[in-house]
Amino acid sequence: MDDSFTAEIKAKLISIGSVRLDPALELPEYVGRSTAGPSAGGRSVFFTADSRRVRLSIRDNSPLFIRLEGEGVAIFHDGSLVATGMLEPVGAHCPHQAYITVSERCIFHCAFCPVHRIQGPVKSQDEVLSLVDEAYARGNLQAISLTAGIEASPDHEVDRMECIVTALRKQYDIPIGVSVYPTYDSSERLYAAGADEIKYNVETMDADIFSIVCPEQDLDFILNSLLNAVRIFGKNKVSSNSIIGLGESDETVISGLETITGLGVLPVLRPVVIHPTNPLPGAERPSAERLLKLGKAAKEAMNRHGLTPLNARTMCVPCTGCDLTPVIDF
Ligand code: SF4
Repeated sequence: MDDSFTAEIKAKLISIGSVRLDPALELPEYVGRSTAGPSAGGRSVFFTADSRRVRLSIRDNSPLFIRLEGEGVAIFHDGSLVATGMLEPVGAHCPHQAYITVSERCIFHCAFCPVHRIQGPVKSQDEVLSLVDEAYARGNLQAISLTAGIEASPDHEVDRMECIVTALRKQYDIPIGVSVYPTYDSSERLYAAGADEIKYNVETMDADIFSIVCPEQDLDFILNSLLNAVRIFGKNKVSSNSIIGLGESDETVISGLETITGLGVLPVLRPVVIHPTNPLPGAERPSAERLLKLGKAAKEAMNRHGLTPLNARTMCVPCTGCDLTPVIDF
């Protein structure tokens, strides 16, 4: 297959972030609903070609349009063809993973995240196990990933995760990844329960913006928790999202990349999602050029610190749907 879905085109699609969908593609197999993080509540599709993948939110006013074309699909930007490829079956949130949000609610009030306003359900351990069983029965399940808002407290959430991971580990011999807000012993407990990878999000490395957008979180505590997580899970087993587009400068992102990779943590540069119901003053979806520039800086920082995303098995690093992922995408 020719390399027509290039990293530059993927960066362009990510910077737009949304697509209008041909009604003929409105099939449950292809249309997923997000229950976690900034995209919570939205619907999306996964487009793939030439070993790259992008996840696009479905929005009626998007300049992108995706339609059936021959055996696959084609994406158009204001009427001009951008890329041809396939839609991927969405599975349980993302292709080949059962990525399950355990608590779809949160006591924190991060400005970029709609979960605290949605205040959705909390899944029981049995519900999580059934969802994984269903994903496994559909075939080609390569990883289990768990995330959560905070229903009552970070400790309470880690308690619940520890029980769920223990139960899943008894039943499944595939990688398990967990993304939670850290507690003082969350890494020790989740590793002992059988988790293989962990993610604690710094959200932004701009301390001033952090204090405004994440009023209940503690950036120093998250960084210390990441350092401890690498000690327990190992290098290349720990990742962290930094949101791009909250008003931070490129210099802050690049120096943040040095800090994060210096801890042995895989950085995920996540374009801000400006939710229709949450305009987020000062935020701006990053351009393709900015994504490529910062992605290159992330790649260089990973190289300097002996990190590679190629061995990651769970959550966002191997999925790549929402981000331009160094090494995998370019
Ligand atoms: S990159 Fe992460 S958040 Fe985006 S679709 Fe993949 S697993 Fe989900």
